[in-house]
Amino acid sequence: MPTVPSIGSRSRVLLRVHGRVQGVGFRPAVYRLAGEAGLAGSVRNDAGGVTIEIEGDEPAVSSFPDRLRRMAPAAARIDSIEVIPAVPRGDEAFRVEASASGSGHTEVAPDRATCSACLRELFDTAGRRHRYPFTTCIDCGPRYTIVRELPYDRPRTTMALFAMCEACDAEYHDPSNRRFHAETNACPACGPRLDGEAVDALRAGSIVAIKGLGGFHLAVDATNEAAVLRLRDRKQRPDKPFAVMVRDLTVAGRIAVLDDPARAALTSPAAPIVCVPKRPSDLAPSVAPRLEEVGVMLPYTPLHHLLLADGPGVLVMTSGNRSDEPVAIGGEALDQLAGIADVFLLHDRPIHRRADDSVVRIVCGGVQPLRRSRGFVPESIALPVEAPPLLALGAQLKNTIAVTHGASACLSPHIGDLSHPATLRFFDESIEAMTQLLGVEPVAVAHDLHPDYASTRRASGTALPRIAVQHHHAHVAACMAEHGRTGPVIGVAFDGTGCGPAGELWGGEILVATLGSFERVAHLRPLPLPGGEAAIREPWRLAAAALIDAGEPLDILGIDTHRLALIESMVLRGLNTPRATSAGRWFDAVAALCGLREAITFEAQAAMELEAIAVDVPDAYPFVFDGEEIDLRPMLRAIVAHIREGVPAAVIAGRFHETLARAVAAAAGSLRALQTVALSGGCFQNRRLTERTKALLERSGFEVLIHRKVPPNDGGIALGQAAVAAWRLASVGE
Ligand code: ZN
Ligand code: ZN
Ligand code: FE
Repeated sequence: MPTVPSIGSRSRVLLRVHGRVQGVGFRPAVYRLAGEAGLAGSVRNDAGGVTIEIEGDEPAVSSFPDRLRRMAPAAARIDSIEVIPAVPRGDEAFRVEASASGSGHTEVAPDRATCSACLRELFDTAGRRHRYPFTTCIDCGPRYTIVRELPYDRPRTTMALFAMCEACDAEYHDPSNRRFHAETNACPACGPRLDGEAVDALRAGSIVAIKGLGGFHLAVDATNEAAVLRLRDRKQRPDKPFAVMVRDLTVAGRIAVLDDPARAALTSPAAPIVCVPKRPSDLAPSVAPRLEEVGVMLPYTPLHHLLLADGPGVLVMTSGNRSDEPVAIGGEALDQLAGIADVFLLHDRPIHRRADDSVVRIVCGGVQPLRRSRGFVPESIALPVEAPPLLALGAQLKNTIAVTHGASACLSPHIGDLSHPATLRFFDESIEAMTQLLGVEPVAVAHDLHPDYASTRRASGTALPRIAVQHHHAHVAACMAEHGRTGPVIGVAFDGTGCGPAGELWGGEILVATLGSFERVAHLRPLPLPGGEAAIREPWRLAAAALIDAGEPLDILGIDTHRLALIESMVLRGLNTPRATSAGRWFDAVAALCGLREAITFEAQAAMELEAIAVDVPDAYPFVFDGEEIDLRPMLRAIVAHIREGVPAAVIAGRFHETLARAVAAAAGSLRALQTVALSGGCFQNRRLTERTKALLERSGFEVLIHRKVPPNDGGIALGQAAVAAWRLASVGE
């Protein structure tokens, strides 16, 4: 029987802590905990996480890992603690040591909004950081956007340019100070400086380019309609909604309806843009035209707090880029934004990594990301399966990429539409940057089936083995992976269009899916797309095509007969008219029928406007489900009758949403052997559709999974590809 060490006997262990443990105040917390427990030893960052050596009374030593798990800083996440026994050396003090280098994986923290303690200092007239726009501490400030490489220490961030003054250095070395080992610590005497003046310009209605955390913003007074219109004109962005930044929750509540989940999301350290219902207010109409919601965020840097305290209380804050390009971050911003901004507000802390503002919506009482970037990246997402490192390149629009190590996946910030050359460069940079940041060498690359996506072409250009993942399987797998599921589930993938296994255009699919494979069990009846891409830009073409397919006359569209005749001959002869089972195209067709718009200027515009006008209705339109195909022609005929009767578009829109929800419920209901349904694809950004579908499915006894960590749109595809590829690689290894 081994001898139990007596109380008071001395022991020493080495702890290797893995997870998100750098840039979150982990070492100072360890220092404090060790001090409280009377332990000697040391703590340091290394490329694998944090290494702690502790020595002291045996009970204090052996209970330390548990204490650490319980008392870790809020922003930290401990994945594992390895405990390695060591021989006591007689250490008497506890030290925070300089970082060691080495290989392995750790996680750098996402950027965090200014904390309440720093905010108080910002407005404390007596303090040395009064009105200092780069005030941060161990709990807040830039992280991901300033890290050049790991481990996370000041010399490896863009803060390396600023040598701490005596006062800051004293805080940095004082274990009782909340800036103890805060790598971003700075003050007016030693830290980054502002260059420019913006408050008067904003008050006068000028457009100001503001250098921020993960890129530039373009700002104007959001109550000044002329200024907002000038920004739209210069940015060549006629309709796409702008987000606003408001002084505080009180001002937010004046322009929008906030519920508890929205308030929680707004005030979270990630500080995303939260899409919330508009209230009648003095907000300029052109901020979010024809939409019922507006994207609102709170100030998340001290600079923002100062601007909104001194200037207008509501600012349009839109990405500082030319339309559809990635957000500008460095010297190139001055050129790119010169034709748009009247005034520049700059600073001298370099942005190393681009990260646009994140966008979330409150769906079914919780946060659903629509764009996952600043504040969330590079937070990893646990995969339900462990595999060798992988690279997943996503799709084409709203793109992100993913890199995996072990059983976690790290997604890049939102990259955007790969058809723009500047975005494609950012895509290439992101591949390099994410693999470098995680220190992994991928052994395979996962990609979409679509041969013309830039991401697919990039995958073909690598020397790595390729794993092709069907687009809608990737959507469903992303939703499953988020929830730690491996299936089988009923996967509902409703989106614009994606490539089927034989090159078909899919987008209204009911799958039975596991992480590794899928079977398509049902789908929407295909709709002709006269002109292909042109039909996506011009929803009236889809309305015409749906009418022709249902044998209805076209006069209801009120479009000149020449254009209609052309569409009719294209559809009937199948000329340049592919067919797609897409749910998204039905939103376009119904929006055009309701007279909302003939053409769109940004993706999903017609669908968003249709959702915006829809009202609650008790009834759906008829449809036919034969066990395989969901035929919406009966719905279309009923909509035509409604339009002729003068039923309001808001009611037609409401009934259309209800019909799709019931069609999904009917298709799932035919697969009763399964208990779980996963809802994914861009159409499930639509709150009305998601909430109604989920409610109907739950009423029939299904468990329903919806997206909570990555967007339901193509921003989540990379995660799904990574999960499918990891599953396939892991299975091969068995
Ligand atoms: Zn702080
Ligand atoms: Zn200083
Ligand atoms: Fe998609």
